[in-house]
Amino acid sequence: MATSEWRESRNAAARARLEKSLRPGFPAHVLHHALTRPLIPPTPSRAVASYWRHHVLRADRLARALAARTGAPEGWTWQVGGGEGRPASFRVPPAPFREDAHAPGPGACRICGGPVFRFGWHRDLAGDGAPSKRAGWHAACVIAWEFWCAPSDHLKELKARQRHRCAVSGKRLLRGSEVDHRLPLYRVWREERDLPWPFLLGYWGAPNLQVVNRAGHLLKSREEADERAALRREALIAAPDDDLP
Ligand SMILES: [Zn+2]
Repeated sequence: MATSEWRESRNAAARARLEKSLRPGFPAHVLHHALTRPLIPPTPSRAVASYWRHHVLRADRLARALAARTGAPEGWTWQVGGGEGRPASFRVPPAPFREDAHAPGPGACRICGGPVFRFGWHRDLAGDGAPSKRAGWHAACVIAWEFWCAPSDHLKELKARQRHRCAVSGKRLLRGSEVDHRLPLYRVWREERDLPWPFLLGYWGAPNLQVVNRAGHLLKSREEADERAALRREALIAAPDDDLP
């Protein structure tokens, strides 16, 4: 069987399976996305996952909006290290609901804290009336989390957002251009860590990301390294003797 014939018969079967499992109210844009894939996802959950994988900037926005709706748990502050589900470094986005002390029960998202419904959706499309007991993440939040942790994997989307112009020089982005945090994460930790939690997430998302040509990035990285070294020197001078190693 030729590849195209194989694909056609495979897609016809996948489409039939997908349409059978749909519920009224399933988002038309997600269905349209699924039906225009080279390989049609055969289940609504896979259609939803594929949709967000292809719309990572939208997933980033939605996950932060959902987190803003939930808000941080009472008494939570951003802390790094010490286990119990806390991030090991300030480079990992703060996520109270991933921490052992604030883990929500089944049916709530470990990233934004909101209720998760069928197909990993953030609204009750299927009319179940209650969150899905087996779900622990929104499909959009999973993609947003991956994006926040490794924005360089999404260079293509970020470049398109800037119309392929370097965010520092305004010149055309060249091969080897890099993703950069406008406000570096070490400064977010140092200067902004007391800001409310959902707002903090913006520093890992698109509002704080830019693509720059390598030359501009090297210069910025060197300036940041110099600044960090100066801060370390200041800290040593300011520290009393018994705090020194
Ligand atoms: Zn979520």
